[in-house]
Amino acid sequence: MDKSYLCLQNINKMSTYDVTIIGSGPGGYVAAIRCAQLGMKTALIEKYSTLGGTCLNVGCIPSKALLDSSEHFHNAVHNFEEHGIDVKSVQANISQMVKRKNEVVAQTSGGIKFLMDKNKVDVYHGIGSFVDKNTVKVSDKDGKETLLSSKNIIISTGSKPNFFPGMEPDKKRIITSTEALNMSEIPKKMLVIGGGVIGLELGSVFARLGTQIEVIEFANTIIPTMDLTLGKELTKVLKKEGFKFNLEHRVQKVVNTGKQVVLTALNKKGEEVTFEAEYCLVAVGRKAYTAGLNLEAIGLKANERGQIEVNDHLQTTIPTIYALGDVVRGAMLAHKAEEEGVYVAEFIAGQKPHINYNLIPGVVYTWPEVAAVGKTEEELKAAGVEYKVGSFPIKALGRARASMDTAGLIKILADKNTDEVLGVHMIAARAADLIMEAVVAMEFRASAEDIARISHPHPTYSEGMKEAAMDATESRALHV
Ligand code: FAD
Ligand code: NAD
Repeated sequence: MDKSYLCLQNINKMSTYDVTIIGSGPGGYVAAIRCAQLGMKTALIEKYSTLGGTCLNVGCIPSKALLDSSEHFHNAVHNFEEHGIDVKSVQANISQMVKRKNEVVAQTSGGIKFLMDKNKVDVYHGIGSFVDKNTVKVSDKDGKETLLSSKNIIISTGSKPNFFPGMEPDKKRIITSTEALNMSEIPKKMLVIGGGVIGLELGSVFARLGTQIEVIEFANTIIPTMDLTLGKELTKVLKKEGFKFNLEHRVQKVVNTGKQVVLTALNKKGEEVTFEAEYCLVAVGRKAYTAGLNLEAIGLKANERGQIEVNDHLQTTIPTIYALGDVVRGAMLAHKAEEEGVYVAEFIAGQKPHINYNLIPGVVYTWPEVAAVGKTEEELKAAGVEYKVGSFPIKALGRARASMDTAGLIKILADKNTDEVLGVHMIAARAADLIMEAVVAMEFRASAEDIARISHPHPTYSEGMKEAAMDATESRALHV
């Protein structure tokens, strides 16, 4: 390393660490805590002024805050009267919703700062870039540079919204999730490119507040990577909320004309169709983010998908440099990044950690919620696995009728010969929490009959799991 510039005035003295982590999202900050717990001297670098990454600042937490607020409003307008609650006039105040959301984000991000202090992790704010394979430079917004020398380095720089030619966000009317979380008005109409998780969650926020949501989706179903049953069922639910879906549409271009956006697409017959609205939310996936890292200095290069390639231990081609979370292969989920953060910390400490990637649950926070774990029916078919299906409609549950949340189903896929549960897919109120029964059962390699024979509290949505398991076990569901 060329150390000549160490004597320059704006460079701080070099500090030495066991582990330096670049990026403070759920992957990075969890890795930092676990490294510190294991006795390693740890540094965490974050380019923004707040900790927590995409998830805490512009992802999981703010989107759920707005989903919860809009759900309250929707219930007040549509369901309170039937519950016997008379509310004279209900207005949605988007500014207050966004303000509350910002407070939730600030509290949560402040909590990460507290955890870093508690665990004696040194936090540096600035852009982290490689000088060599044991040195990272932190460049802060005032031009100050600090050099950190480290035995191990973890790259957890996350992801950014993706887009394709013709749909470049201008962040004014052609927006990404980040701008959609900070709207100052409730639009009359919003186009959403992509019927995936972000499109449907943020689409739900605005649909509940009265916005006409029109989804333009490339595939022949919404949430195309999940079990196809879920996409079909969710389509029915969201259509009732006022969503319009345009499947098998290929977006050509989106133009901001001032007060409107005009989107041109080709439908499945190849005909040109146009859509107009006040806003267009671009939600066609996210892209791994490595800008500013100066990977060239250590001879690393992102692959054609922008990701950093790693082996099964999340090591790059340089064994002391690791990468994890959204910046590497696999599901772009906060809990996946967290598991990888713990994995890398324990691996560096010489332990033998393990991650079961097949059992990372996925949730879409619409209402009712969508949740899944394990293999889809389509994956089992493609792999030639002999399977059986147990299914149970949520409307047959007493609890669902009591709360008026009757939409959805629970579907269990089990091995035809051994009865082992291979996949669980559900749409139900509280599915985000319900899915954990399936995750635990599958981690312990339970059979459908095991679940069928466990007592489930009555009246709960969890009885749907038991009934679906009974259906998979000799079609002996009781309440249908
Ligand atoms: P990130 O959270 O992206 O963090 C990376 C951090 O690295 C950022 O803070 C960035 O500023 C910093 N950084 C980048 N480069 C540098 C550098 N050179 N120097 C210093 N710092 C740098 N997942 C779920 O599981 N559940 C959800 O409900 C959910 N909802 C979501 C909703 C939305 C709207 C979005 C956009 C995403 C959502 N996600 C959700 C996905 C989740 O946010 C990501 O999977 C998760 O944040 C990935 O964590 P990470 O640590 O890999 O990266
Ligand atoms: P996604 O992959 O979930 O959905 C993208 C959708 O866009 C897909 O349905 C895809 O077929 C469609 N699409 C792709 N190209 C298109 C095109 N040219 N025209 C029209 N449609 C097109 O991606 P997302 O919704 O942007 O979310 C990004 C990531 O963030 C996901 O990986 C997700 O895991 C994560 N996330 C998770 C949660 C959660 O866990 N609840 C919430 C939000 C985001």
